[in-house]
Amino acid sequence: MQRFENARAAAHELRPDDPVYCFRPAVLKEDCRRFMEMFPGKTAYAVKTNGETLVLKTLVEAGVTAFDVASPGEFEAVREVSPDAEMLYMHPVKAQSHIRLALEKYGIRVISIDHEDEITKLTRVVRALDIDPGQITVFVRIQTKGSAAYELSKKFGAGPAYAVELSERLNRTGYKVGLCFHVGSQIEDPDTYERALASADWVRNRVSFDIVGLDVGGGFPAEYGQDPRKRKPDMPSLGQIMSRLSGDIREYGFHEMPLVAEPGRVIVARAFSLIVRVLMRKGRRLYINDGIWASLSDSWTGKITLPARIIPDPAIRSRNGDSANIVPFKVCGATCDSVDILSRPFWLPETIDTGDWIEIGNIGAYSLSLRTRFNGFYPDTFVEVTTPFEEGGAVEGFASLETMAD
Ligand SMILES: *Cc1c(COP(=O)(O)O)cnc(C)c1O
Repeated sequence: MQRFENARAAAHELRPDDPVYCFRPAVLKEDCRRFMEMFPGKTAYAVKTNGETLVLKTLVEAGVTAFDVASPGEFEAVREVSPDAEMLYMHPVKAQSHIRLALEKYGIRVISIDHEDEITKLTRVVRALDIDPGQITVFVRIQTKGSAAYELSKKFGAGPAYAVELSERLNRTGYKVGLCFHVGSQIEDPDTYERALASADWVRNRVSFDIVGLDVGGGFPAEYGQDPRKRKPDMPSLGQIMSRLSGDIREYGFHEMPLVAEPGRVIVARAFSLIVRVLMRKGRRLYINDGIWASLSDSWTGKITLPARIIPDPAIRSRNGDSANIVPFKVCGATCDSVDILSRPFWLPETIDTGDWIEIGNIGAYSLSLRTRFNGFYPDTFVEVTTPFEEGGAVEGFASLETMAD
């Protein structure tokens, strides 16, 4: 992989017409180690956030020994980078053939469920393979009510009373039983984990046996950009969130059992930026070579504010306007699909023009893992970059949270 000091150097050297992912392995290791130091248990990286081999490999180098996986593709991706990493199969609704593959081929022994039918599937496989249920830890996923940018409790999770029933049933069959939750992604309310811990505590106090572990899921917020015209939301820092979580874990008495977290976004967001090219400027509209069907579907939902900066094409000799004047542009994606328009404007210098590049920062999570081959576009160019995004020059623009009229 080619290596550059920053995205600007990469853009000037490569003059890329296709999107380029700028990977920062040092940043990834730093954010990963920082999380592992702060969390008082096992860190299982959520592979769906960004499952590229280079990411998984770098995480193994950083000391990650466990991964949260959800599909045969993810089992294989983890096995490819590490023959002995532990895998936690934390998808509550699975195909029976995938459960079999997990137990038989990949040796997975940690699994989550939120319904009795899933226990039936699991037990069928366990019996067929003649595995002692006592070797398997089943985490019962508890429904949580949180406040996250991406709410997930509507889709998965057993209500507390039903979770008690499921736990008892698992215990009777001989499984080891843990409790887990996943509060959604990019939490927006620091009380979210405490509420989930209270539910887990309620369940634990009503089961007739000892719970073997607690998995607090993901949801830890990553840093994004900030619209300078808006008041910064009152959100504690990651360090504060983590120390409060540790305190709450102790308060509820969960600190004496094995703990697991499944962070994704918070570990990988800062490790990538993306260089896109302006294929056309039409007034206040920019047509770029990426979009909602490639790396920008997460931003399309408009829930995160991505930091961005222009990388001017040095070949453009004359420009109109003042480069210090930051104005909103509607950003149109690469495909011929008319919905491929970002829902929020990007604020950039008014001098930006056809042929310039834009570096979009902190885009390592839920970006390239969600890209499609729609319309024949599939960005797949990676370079290594040695300086963090924040140090690559002033952040001039950002995807605003405000909508823009045509
Ligand atoms: C997606 C997911 C995660 C990771 O969530 P982040 O918000 O990216 O940390 C963790 N656990 C489960 C079960 C998930 O589905």
